[in-house]
Amino acid sequence: MSKADIGLIGLAVMGQNLVLNINDHDFTASVYNRTISKVDSFLDGRARGTNVIGAHSIEELVGTLKKPRRVMLMVKAGAVVDSFIEQLVPYLETGDIIIDGGNSLYSDTNRRSTTLAENGILYIGTGISGGEEGARKGPSIMPGGNPEAWPHVKDIFQAIAAKVDGQPCCDWVGEGGAGHFVKMVHNGIEYGDMQLICEAYDFMRRGLGMSEESMQKVFSRWNKGLLDSYLIEITSHILGFKDDDGIPLTEKILDTAGQKGTGKWTGINALDLGIPLTLISEAVFARCLSAMKPERVKAAAIFKGPVPGFTGDTDELVNDVHDALYAAKIISYAQGYMLLREAAKEHGWNLNYGSIALMWRGGCIIRSAFLANIKQAFDANPDLENLLLDDFFRSAIQSAQAGWRRIAVKAIEFGIPIPAISSGLSYYDGYRSERLPANLLQAQRDYFGAHTYERIDQPRGDFFHTDWIGSG
Ligand code: NAP
Repeated sequence: MSKADIGLIGLAVMGQNLVLNINDHDFTASVYNRTISKVDSFLDGRARGTNVIGAHSIEELVGTLKKPRRVMLMVKAGAVVDSFIEQLVPYLETGDIIIDGGNSLYSDTNRRSTTLAENGILYIGTGISGGEEGARKGPSIMPGGNPEAWPHVKDIFQAIAAKVDGQPCCDWVGEGGAGHFVKMVHNGIEYGDMQLICEAYDFMRRGLGMSEESMQKVFSRWNKGLLDSYLIEITSHILGFKDDDGIPLTEKILDTAGQKGTGKWTGINALDLGIPLTLISEAVFARCLSAMKPERVKAAAIFKGPVPGFTGDTDELVNDVHDALYAAKIISYAQGYMLLREAAKEHGWNLNYGSIALMWRGGCIIRSAFLANIKQAFDANPDLENLLLDDFFRSAIQSAQAGWRRIAVKAIEFGIPIPAISSGLSYYDGYRSERLPANLLQAQRDYFGAHTYERIDQPRGDFFHTDWIGSG
């Protein structure tokens, strides 16, 4: 029997689809799963008629592979990955490659990459986005880890990845956990994009009293313009979906959002690195608040606020909602890229920001026309300090800001929460403020804790303390 190009462990939805995708591109995969019966049912079912090889043990799996052996894990992130690595290592040789394609925490990938390098095993931690459909038809793939491993997996990864304008949405990201870090920020951005769309929907529904049908048309129109993206497109489909009784299904879905943790990780990393990632963090908190349903139900009966009853020109405000959504989305990406830059500095990664935008342009949940503008911005200036400073985005945000502000004001008047849209605006106003009230804050810190302050009339780095109580 001829040997397989790659082995894959983990035959849940992602693993199965990736294997079928690999097979479609004329590479041979062999597979193993903890619950062995799933290997057989996969071969007898979805993989029937393909070249996929089944293995009933790790040893058997490794025995089916060409050298250097490539073994990909598509299993539950966390301890399960460590456990499979431990089981694999005794059967591998120097130069063999382990790839973790799950949603692992980048610091775990850093650790695994270092430890395995000591044993001569090359390690890749790769982000894979696009859900089950992406895995089957072409995901966005963000690999990082040991650079010596990349030439051995490049052909397979780039063949199975999504393509945009003929280019694969997959390229080498950087060393150690860089691939998983980029995937984590991608997921954070996904949280932000989804929350912004939900706020636009809530404003139009509760604030403007629009029906699902008319909002469906609005999202469908937006999908043909600047906001052209997968998430806007599926929102339009979702709003048009009716339950058996003809009522829009969204009306019947419980308003408590779930989360698996990658948005939270993005926020935690931003706090650790001192980056004001306000919009994505608000998106995570919005999910947390949504999950407190019983408490909200009680509070709704106690706390009364304005009752939206808009009677003016809806079309004009809908255009403003578009601008608010677009401008806030620019902020979210600008903040996400700030986090990437800071992490690159911290970990010594040489990230190619334009190439990251290209990887996100196809296959993944945040795919959008907008990412082409981001790629152009970083291609024109790879050292761009902040996306907002790029000519295209500077003028885009300036044209959108009047509508963005009107929506923020109206939402406050209506009593409709827009944490992502409004925090994006506050960040924008903060970023463009030459002087912020941190002068008073420094005075407070010096008053109660003698933390000292710098003065605008003295050189930077000279620190002063005032006896606020005794003198002045
Ligand atoms: P999953 O539900 O995250 O994991 C299921 C796989 O992990 C199965 O093969 C399962 O084996 C194995 N597993 C679970 N607990 C185990 C344990 N204690 N010991 C050994 N094996 C164990 O599968 P998935 O949804 O296909 O995702 C795979 C990875 O891709 C995850 O890291 C996920 O976060 C990531 N990911 C998922 C998506 C998505 O849309 N689902 C998208 C991108 C990335 P058994 O069959 O024996 O239970």
